[in-house]
Amino acid sequence: MARIRGKATRPELLVRQTVRALGIGYRLNRRDLPGSPDLVFMGRKKVIFVHGCFWHQHGCKLTGKAPQKRAEYWAPKLKRNVKRDQEAQQRLEELGYRALTIWECEVSSPSLPERIAKFLKT
Ligand SMILES: [Zn+2]
Repeated sequence: MARIRGKATRPELLVRQTVRALGIGYRLNRRDLPGSPDLVFMGRKKVIFVHGCFWHQHGCKLTGKAPQKRAEYWAPKLKRNVKRDQEAQQRLEELGYRALTIWECEVSSPSLPERIAKFLKT
């Protein structure tokens, strides 16, 4: 899929760093939860997804266009990613979890720590 299994992307590392700075513990990539969220906060029943803009089709300027070559290969693949994300969110909700999605293009935003703190502490 979007990455090599077990290898964290740069946006993921930045988000982890931010969460650690808030002094909040987390677990990584719980495969027993829908969508294998990147960060899981068991006691709080909250999860954070860190999504690459291209792979998860954010629609921002980082998303870019699907490669012209082999469009017939990329289009359904990307569409499946989006559908899978939606299904995971819904299933998490049914399990009583709240999910926050942080996009690749948002990780350097100065307001990110505040956003994460707000999500985790309320
Ligand atoms: Zn984006």
